[in-house]
Amino acid sequence: MHKDFFVVANWKMNKNSAETKAYLHELSGLLARCSFRVLKSKRVVLCVPFTSLSVLVECKELPYLSELCVGAQNCHFSGSGAFTGEISANMLVSSGVDYVILGHSERRILFGETDEFISRKVSACLNCGLKVILCVGEDSSERKSGKTADVIKRQIDSVLVQLEENRISDLIVAYEPVWAIGAGISASLAEVNEVAGFIDNILKSYCTLSSKSVPKVIYGGSVSKRNVKDIAHLSGIDGVLVGRASLNCREFVDILSAI
Ligand code: PEP
Repeated sequence: MHKDFFVVANWKMNKNSAETKAYLHELSGLLARCSFRVLKSKRVVLCVPFTSLSVLVECKELPYLSELCVGAQNCHFSGSGAFTGEISANMLVSSGVDYVILGHSERRILFGETDEFISRKVSACLNCGLKVILCVGEDSSERKSGKTADVIKRQIDSVLVQLEENRISDLIVAYEPVWAIGAGISASLAEVNEVAGFIDNILKSYCTLSSKSVPKVIYGGSVSKRNVKDIAHLSGIDGVLVGRASLNCREFVDILSAI
């Protein structure tokens, strides 16, 4: 597996700072017992709650954790101002954050985030030097009615039409079928491959200057230690986004070891 294979953990609203610290100490200990290959061959991003970011940054000092990337799960598009409860891209960067998840289906569905709103956030984060993991994906009724391609194209186009081509390479697109998130059953390999290819074609149409700037495509939705190896071997997939299975440190290390 090459260095740029992503394993992104999305902790969602789980673990306070003490629990984060305990997890990271356990992770350091477990990785000490793994082979060199487990971390060196991939880019591991932990997307933790805002309140755990400083603990994650501090714990990078622990053995085997220095190459962990620090990720957040949301960001506002304004630099500052009267937006009670929000966090800006500059605040994330100055807290040591490298990556941010935007457009997660939970934000779209539970918090009413529109394509336009997400697009503004993506631009603001990229302009501030963050790398953005943009989540896209259809829900089950959209899949059943044959609208998967239309939904995904709309979600990607709304972001990419706003971006200069030289910003696009800092984007990672996560294909996350909503019906597979937290469901315990991932999309089939054929389904993942088909949609990943479709996404790649859309992305390539925006990268006219250099093929090197084409964003990576990763898959999320019930990834576990049982299915991760097969998903990781799909030619169009450059990484995985892991929700529930990343919360248990042993299980997360099993996932890293399986790839
Ligand atoms: C997610 O919410 O981004 C996710 C992939 O969750 P899970 O792995 O639990 O399906």
